[in-house]
Amino acid sequence: MHKILIVDDIFVNRLLLKEVMKGLDVACIEAQNGKEAIEIIQREKVDLIFMDIEMPVMNGLETTRHIREKLPSPVRYIPIIALTAHNPASFFDDFRDVGFDFLMTKPYSIEKIKQAINKTLPAK
Ligand SMILES: [Mg+2]
Repeated sequence: MHKILIVDDIFVNRLLLKEVMKGLDVACIEAQNGKEAIEIIQREKVDLIFMDIEMPVMNGLETTRHIREKLPSPVRYIPIIALTAHNPASFFDDFRDVGFDFLMTKPYSIEKIKQAINKTLPAK
């Protein structure tokens, strides 16, 4: 079973994402900001990260850059999906430039989540 880390500062957003993923064969863990996320992925094996962009303490852009540039392999290569409710163009021209593997816009749907997972994770 794939382990997915949900990083979002809003409790209800994490809950929603977890609820939608209940029908999938995945295990979810959570972090409230990028700093927590970095601690978790250095401690336990995570297969995929859903990363909110706007968060206090350490936002999704800073966190993703840190993971891609500062952490050792294989942690630095964990697929990361950017989450945003706003126009992503206000954060970056291309999400790949920041180090994201995929971009998922809110509101979530099971189809969007399945597509994001299928595009970023090899079938297990
Ligand atoms: Mg947020």
